[in-house]
Formats: sequence, structure tokens, C-alpha cells
Amino acid sequence: MRIDKLLANMGYGTRKDVKKLLKGGIVRVNDELVKDGKVHVNPKEDSVTVQGELVEYKPFIYLIMNKPQGVISATEDMEHKTVIDLLREEHFLYEPFPVGRLDKDTEGLLLLTNDGQFSHALMSPKRHVPKTYVAEILGEVNERDIELFKQGVTLEDGYTTKPAELIINKQAQVSEITLTITEGKYHQVKRMFAAVGKKVTFLKRIKVGELVLDPTLERGAYRELTEEEYDLLT
Ligand code: URA
Repeated sequence: MRIDKLLANMGYGTRKDVKKLLKGGIVRVNDELVKDGKVHVNPKEDSVTVQGELVEYKPFIYLIMNKPQGVISATEDMEHKTVIDLLREEHFLYEPFPVGRLDKDTEGLLLLTNDGQFSHALMSPKRHVPKTYVAEILGEVNERDIELFKQGVTLEDGYTTKPAELIINKQAQVSEITLTITEGKYHQVKRMFAAVGKKVTFLKRIKVGELVLDPTLERGAYRELTEEEYDLLT
């Protein structure tokens, strides 16, 4: 990995900042002065110091984002802005990707990482990690829907969903609900409501496993997971 990328990843600023550091002659690799950002280092084997202080390399990054509506949870899209476009350079350089997907018009808790194993374990259908959503539903959600969701509803493609917990927060022409599901089929929440003849008009994910969306994160904002939060997910 390039030394400038490594230092930027480790929080020594943007690539531009890092270039200045290198020029300043304070970066050493295995005790040798390095001024060129293109020099390659092996973060696991080489000893990198900045002003004599050892840089301890952490290869993985774990981010929690409050995804806004209108952006795609993918790393690239020809037409639309993606969640990756919302990242600051210091995090972008880690090349993170979203853990699972939220629809373009869905907002809320989205994790991003460059740790494939972490992502895979969290998304594995075998682990049944619960995901909780709040939603607005066109139509009066009722006790029958609660029962149907508990038993499992059959989607339009014939798939029957696993038991899900539906709570009605407000029963009205536009109802407000909280739904917890333990699987992640394509458009699952919208399709579950479609199966009982209702339409989701607003959808926000508020919890994944035991991790709750930080209410202080504005739409589009993100931060690194704390160690405690990481532990909740592993
Ligand atoms: N279910 C949906 O229908 N959409 C999402 O974005 C997430 C779950």
C-alpha cells in the first residue's frame, strides 16, 4: 500500500496534508527517511514512524451512517449519488462499502465497512440479525396485520416471510408502525405491506441487531463505530 494512503487512512489528514508531512522529512519507514508518497509499504511488516512515533496500522474501518433519502446504497452508480459520495476523504480512502442495502427512498441506519468478513457475518441469512424499521403506511394497519406478520405473509413471488414483530404506533388513514424482521429480502418491508394490501409511504431503519441509530446523526451524517457498538454486532 502507498505510504501516503496509509498515513491518510491513519488520520494524518488528507493526501495533500500527508504530502506536506512527507516533504517535511519526518516520515520514516524502517528507519529510512521517505519523502515520496508513492513509496509502497507493507503495513503489517514495515515500521512506519512520524516524528519518531510509531504508526499503528488498522486495516479496517466501521462506519455508522444516517442514510438520507435520494442516495443509493452502493459504491458506484451511473446516475445517482451514492452513500460513498457522502464520505470524507480520510474514510473514503479505506474503500468501504455498504453492509447490505437500503432502498433509494429509505433512510436511516446504514453500516459501511471494508471488512468483508464482518459484513458477511452480519448479512448471513443463517444469523437472522433483526432489523427494525419505523414506517408510515397508507391505510389503517390493524390487529389482523400484526397476526399475519407474526405468522408470516406470502409475498407476490410465493415466498413466505419469517415471523416478524409489528407494533402499531398510530392507527389512522396514514398509520405509523415499528416493524422488526430477521431477514433481508429485496424490498422486504414494502412487499410485506403490499401482501396485506397496504403501501409504505415512508421508511426508516432505526436498529440493526442491538445497534440503535444514533439520534444525534443528522441525515447524511456518519461517524466511526465505537468499540462498544462494534462489540454489539460481533
Ligand atoms: N425493506 C424495504 O422495502 N426497503 C428497504 O430499504 C429496507 C427494507
